[in-house]
Amino acid sequence: MISIKNYINGEFVNPENSKWINNYNPSTGEIYGKIPNSSHKDVEKAFKSAEDAFSNWSQTTLNERSRILLKISELLETNLDRFAEAESRDNGKPINLAKTVDIPRAASNFRFFANAITQFSSESHESVGQQAINYTLRQPLGVVGCISPWNLPLYLFTWKIAPAIAAGNCVVAKPSEVTPVTAYLLGEILNEADLPKGVLNIVHGLGNTTGQAIVEHPKIKAISFTGGTKTGAHIAKIAAPMFKKLSLELGGKNPNIIFADCNYNDMLHTTVRSSFTNQGQICLCGSRIFVEGTIYNKFKTDFIEKVKLLKVGHPSKTDTNIGALVSKPHLEKVKNYIEIAKNEGGNILFGGHEVSIKGYEKGYYLQPTIIEVKTDDCSVNQEEIFGPVVTLMPFKTESEVLKMANKVKYGLSATLWTNNLNRTMRLSNQLEAGIVWVNTWMMRDLRTPFGGVKASGVGREGGFEALRFFTEPKNVCIKY
Ligand code: NAD
Repeated sequence: MISIKNYINGEFVNPENSKWINNYNPSTGEIYGKIPNSSHKDVEKAFKSAEDAFSNWSQTTLNERSRILLKISELLETNLDRFAEAESRDNGKPINLAKTVDIPRAASNFRFFANAITQFSSESHESVGQQAINYTLRQPLGVVGCISPWNLPLYLFTWKIAPAIAAGNCVVAKPSEVTPVTAYLLGEILNEADLPKGVLNIVHGLGNTTGQAIVEHPKIKAISFTGGTKTGAHIAKIAAPMFKKLSLELGGKNPNIIFADCNYNDMLHTTVRSSFTNQGQICLCGSRIFVEGTIYNKFKTDFIEKVKLLKVGHPSKTDTNIGALVSKPHLEKVKNYIEIAKNEGGNILFGGHEVSIKGYEKGYYLQPTIIEVKTDDCSVNQEEIFGPVVTLMPFKTESEVLKMANKVKYGLSATLWTNNLNRTMRLSNQLEAGIVWVNTWMMRDLRTPFGGVKASGVGREGGFEALRFFTEPKNVCIKY
């Protein structure tokens, strides 16, 4: 049993109300820990500690901030195995994924922003003929709130925290109550890296109490949120009258568009990955596969063959491709979508059933599932499922597939497979998405803007975009 505590002012503390929530291990379905069910009192305590730390931290030199962030990054790398095992157990993701993606990327987030902050400078303008010089200050906001989801727990948590503190802010942060463990472990590393007390405070608890208390706090200047679209809209409503700065990274229903002229083998291999990595629980997964009619039947056969080979298993096993879904309610939600698909005339080409793993019969395991749909209007093609479920449909023309790709409320990412340059340019311009991958998937350069359009969010993370979000520009005009 793991007993998690809040991390406030550099110390691990119990919640003020002594209330706790159970934490489940998705691979066994059993309770394996408890986390604080923090109230607004804990958020207030965290805020005060952040507020007190701000005057010093905001004046720390960039080199000093950079040094501390690099140290955090190094310590995460040193403790990679421990963090990866914790992440895999808490989330249900295969251990290999946690070791090669989640934890290394969390370390990269600190390393990247340690360097980026030393390069982040603002413009100055000489107003020629008016004997004036204008320059722009980029000042930290003060105390900011960071709220993250369960699918890439430490990676997305640190993707917000690293730029926030690099830019000189102090933070009240809340990881998902479903996957709190690595955020808890991070506290130890922050102390070892000598991050001054109060710069980063981690409060655990439910979204509609602890999370909402952060959003409602009148003195928390900005909220960087990643999670569901409904939650994002709710947060925006609360934050708007207080004129809080908001960054919202929300849901997706990403098209994967395959033309006959693509590099077939690369496409097939990557499409298996983009469909089912992390049990399909990545906001960037290509959940709607559109295939040009001339290769549709071949693709269908080959794709099913490849997906059949994916091994559903316990997350700690190194040969597991598909681990456990994150929670029982989430498993039920995904299964319900499979039923909806059947009722709407969808053809289950493969999967659709729970998997019982010997010794872990109560775990939340589901087969990777491919659904051939008759129309792109059906629910499973329009709504975010966020599990190991993809839809498959043929198309005839470029304009037809573009229309279908854009006909969802979301607009996070899109993947395009073709070797036709003109088509690449045309479609990249017209796809309604914040990110377009051509002949690849989830290749990330941390300097690039990350985020979506439409119901997938507002604002961008990544690179200088994140540092811009976490700073306020101020124009100074000096007449000489
Ligand atoms: P969620 O919206 O339920 O919760 C996300 C976080 O918000 C959690 O920490 C939760 O406790 C908190 N929260 C919930 N209600 C709140 C409230 N009223 N006030 C403040 N905080 C609140 O989302 P989830 O189920 O944890 O994550 C899955 C969703 O996240 C999916 O929709 C997925 O697409 C999305 N996601 C988006 C991105 C992206 O970059 N666009 C990345 C990963 C996940």
